[in-house]
Amino acid sequence: MAKTLEQEKLTVNENQSDILLEVNGLKKFFPVKAGILQRTVGHVKAVDDVSFYVKKGETFGLVGESGCGKSTTGRTIIRLYEPTDGKVLFEGKDISNLNEKQLKPYRRDIQMVFQDPYSSLNPRKTVGTILEEPYRVHKLYSKAERKERVEHLLEKVGLNPDLRNRYPHEFSGGQRQRIGIARALTLNPKLIIGDEPVSALDVSIQSQVLNIMDDLQKDFGLTYLFIAHDLGVVKHISDRIGVMYLGKMMEIAPKRRLYSNPFHPYTQALLSAVPKSHPSEVKKERIILKGDVPSPSNPPKGCVFHTRCPKVMDHCKQEIPALKELEPGHFVACHLYE
Ligand code: SF4
Repeated sequence: MAKTLEQEKLTVNENQSDILLEVNGLKKFFPVKAGILQRTVGHVKAVDDVSFYVKKGETFGLVGESGCGKSTTGRTIIRLYEPTDGKVLFEGKDISNLNEKQLKPYRRDIQMVFQDPYSSLNPRKTVGTILEEPYRVHKLYSKAERKERVEHLLEKVGLNPDLRNRYPHEFSGGQRQRIGIARALTLNPKLIIGDEPVSALDVSIQSQVLNIMDDLQKDFGLTYLFIAHDLGVVKHISDRIGVMYLGKMMEIAPKRRLYSNPFHPYTQALLSAVPKSHPSEVKKERIILKGDVPSPSNPPKGCVFHTRCPKVMDHCKQEIPALKELEPGHFVACHLYE
């Protein structure tokens, strides 16, 4: 598949050896079936030509309203969903077409932490058994070593190792998410994809979990792809941020640039809704977007944001804006900047 101009720009500006994950022109369409014969009558374009990269040791925040395709992007990278088109390169190797056997080593290197710690932990198993399971599956370590490693992991996520014999329901939501993080760490992954890992938690608990993730990143040399619906949540943890809307990438920028000088009208609207994190900050005027997000089974022609954009122009309704680099590392898909 030929690389588009923006995909080339996304890669050539970085030293290739610094890049852990590269997503090029990724598409994930789900068929819409109807009738007695369940014929395919259309497609939900959950992810439509998305490109970005994540450097080793950094946190890339992927943000957008629910239904924008950010979680589908994460799940397609880890091959919980098969990609419709595009490439996913991990350490320079295309993993988007590998079969299950070829994928096995990558399943250790890339782990996912899910939003709902309640449903992702088996309620009938003790926490110790849950955390030891990956070692047993991969036939790693002796029984004594597994126990030692599990206790070490529990300590690392701020839980008392003596709690290993308890069941998931005996823990609070925040503690359960820490267990989910510990489980993701068992096989020493290189990349952790956090699919809204703190969204289900109280605000006070969110910051505790984010701090733990921050510490673990330093201790284990981890790289994070952190998916969230709220620019406020990713602010502290991310180095760079990508903003998605209706299956498309709208803007990518280093964190400071994105928060201080967002280019895309959608990012500007999202940021105007983020509460001030410090009293000295100047509060931006709230931009209220009109209407609802259109259906991804029938996205608008041209710029997918044009039905809600306060700055829409005539040709926005016809032409899809390409993701272009306006400043070093700051990419935007908007006709205003052409
Ligand atoms: Fe708005 Fe047009 Fe830019 Fe889309 S391309 S965000 S409709 S100004």
